[in-house]
Amino acid sequence: MNKKPNIRSLSEEELKDFFVKHGEKPFRAKQVYEWLWKKNARNFDEMTNLSKDLRTFLDKHFSIPHIKIKHFQRSSDGTIKNAVNLQDNLIVESVLIPTDTRTTACVSSQVGCSLDCKFCATARLKRMRNLSPDEIVDQVVEADLQSKEYYGHPLSNIVFMGMGEPLLNYDNVMSAIEKITSDKALGMSPRRITVSTSGIPKMIRKMADDNPRVKLAVSLHSAIDDIRTEIMPVNARQGGLKELLKALQYWYDKTKSRITFEYLVFKGINDDERSIKALVDFAKKVPSKVNLIEYNPIDDSDRFQQADDKVLDKYQQALKEAGIISTVRRSRGKDIDAACGQLANKINLD
Ligand code: SAH
Repeated sequence: MNKKPNIRSLSEEELKDFFVKHGEKPFRAKQVYEWLWKKNARNFDEMTNLSKDLRTFLDKHFSIPHIKIKHFQRSSDGTIKNAVNLQDNLIVESVLIPTDTRTTACVSSQVGCSLDCKFCATARLKRMRNLSPDEIVDQVVEADLQSKEYYGHPLSNIVFMGMGEPLLNYDNVMSAIEKITSDKALGMSPRRITVSTSGIPKMIRKMADDNPRVKLAVSLHSAIDDIRTEIMPVNARQGGLKELLKALQYWYDKTKSRITFEYLVFKGINDDERSIKALVDFAKKVPSKVNLIEYNPIDDSDRFQQADDKVLDKYQQALKEAGIISTVRRSRGKDIDAACGQLANKINLD
């Protein structure tokens, strides 16, 4: 690995300090920052409004590491999955999902995951480390390039639904969002970004206070404590549904942004009337909508099976009667293991 420090780990202020310390004009920081974050320069030679000497000087002090797409797969429905090589050669996956009107990038925030959601393939990978802000931004930059190349239009939406729990890498995820949305960098609208969490109440509150103006999705999957804890042990560790609800109400009070609940319906687990009623009661307590998502099998075990369509209809009917909007989300990219919960670095890279 390159031993020179990564210049993209410096803020614009820190860059300014560096230039001033070395007898350069402070405005150089603004120029270099733009090259790094807006024009996506891969080396110092691209920075043509700096003198040759200054470029050589920067190159002596810093590196500009960049993620590399190590492996690329395209599904029959157009979904693209990338195996992304990070700065230390660890690998995460990112997914690009096209629809008629938009392209959504699904980005990773951690290598592996420390949670233990029983239905998720990523949970089987040990959490190795957090991604840095530039590693997260790079996934977006690559997705935007791919969207233009393969679908003919720029990236429109970003969801933090790849590998990892974004709220357990809070500072780096917020710093990446700042770069993605800032006019000095990628300049995308925060309303097109969704942070998806398994539900970490303390961090939901913190994000409400910091208010990056992004949308919040919560992977709920059950509104009954015992069942949720059984399939998502993080539930009990974080104080259960009561604490989650309080944090979500706090989020809504602060941001006035409606929450999306992600909800899988499993045969014999949460496909009964009691589960339906519990979800309706829970969702009524905070402005929200529900995405009923399709389960993507992650192995051959039959512990988890997608419930019948008629159960989904019952869920939708009950939600509708309570005035709660719901949609049924069919999976994309299943044939290449790119669908929700299937990201597990399965490809053989040798
Ligand atoms: N840790 C975050 C983001 C990653 S998971 C979170 O929990 O929200 C992204 C979404 O995929 C979550 O809603 C998760 O519950 C869902 N998911 C996980 N495994 C799945 C599977 N096998 N099939 C369908 N969705 C799954």
